[in-house]
Amino acid sequence: MSNNKESIYNCPHCGEKSFNPLTKAMAGGLNSKGKVCKACGRRCCNGQVSTIINAVVYVIALVGVILAYLFIDNNMLAFTLMIGSIIAAFLISRIFDAFFMPMTKVIRNDIRS
Ligand SMILES: [Zn+2]
Repeated sequence: MSNNKESIYNCPHCGEKSFNPLTKAMAGGLNSKGKVCKACGRRCCNGQVSTIINAVVYVIALVGVILAYLFIDNNMLAFTLMIGSIIAAFLISRIFDAFFMPMTKVIRNDIRS
C-alpha cells in the first residue's frame, strides 16, 4: 500500500500504521484509556465523532429496549428484541470505530504510558 499517510489506522503520535480494524475497534473513545501504539508506546483512541456516534447508537438502542418493553406483549419476543438492540448497538459502534474516522491522541492526563 502506497497511501499509508492517509490511513485511519495510523498512530496520531508517530504516524506509523500500527493499528488494524480490530485493534482500532477495541481502542475505545475519548473517555477510554485507548490502546498503546506498537511503534512508539503512546496511547491512541477513537476521536470525538466516534464518541458521539457511540452515544447516539446506544440512545437509539435504549429507545428500542423501552419500546419493546412497553408495546410488545409477547415476553419472549420483547426479551429477544431488547437483547438484540443492545447487541446491535455494540456491533454498530465497534464496526464504526473499526472502519471510519482516524485515531486520535488520548487526552486524559491521568494516564501515563
Ligand atoms: Zn505511535
